[in-house]
Amino acid sequence: MAINLSELPYAKDALAPYISANTLEFHYGKHHKTYVDNLNKLIAGTDLEGKTLEEIIINAAKDPAKAGTFNNAAQVWNHSFYWKCLKPQGGGAPTGAVAAKINAAFGSYDKFVEELKNAGATQFGSGWAWLVLDGNDLKITKTPNADTPLAHGRKALLTIDVWEHAYYLDYQNRRPDYLTAVIQNLINWDFVNANLG
Ligand code: MN
Repeated sequence: MAINLSELPYAKDALAPYISANTLEFHYGKHHKTYVDNLNKLIAGTDLEGKTLEEIIINAAKDPAKAGTFNNAAQVWNHSFYWKCLKPQGGGAPTGAVAAKINAAFGSYDKFVEELKNAGATQFGSGWAWLVLDGNDLKITKTPNADTPLAHGRKALLTIDVWEHAYYLDYQNRRPDYLTAVIQNLINWDFVNANLG
């Protein structure tokens, strides 16, 4: 059973002008799809074929010989998760249970935004900014390249992709402007709340 490319949960032009249809054509249609295709080639005929994506990530994370499998599997998971973290007319202050947790953990929504932006802006090279649950604690983290909280026993609540392919067509080198636009206009707080479980 192959790993599938998850459906994009909105039309490719739905996040414009903050993330253009052109970016999603490449980011979802080329980059994300290529990770899926590469992963299926890497696991074909191995003991990982038929496992869930999460099982593949956790297994491959422990084995340096499976770095290629880990990178592609984690990127498949991270992208499927990232698409669900976004929605048209999203963003702004959080709603629901996560709002109180954010205030308790970071002091205020503004402080949370500052820390999340800082994580994304200071991730050197490619990677991801995250809001995670570490035990019962809400934390902001960043991971390089394909790395993912799942490989470190943490539960992802929210992510922003800071690979150049996520923003370069729309913002060129201005990663902080992309982070600001996503946080103000696209975060799907319903999804973040659902991840709290
Ligand atoms: Mn990406």
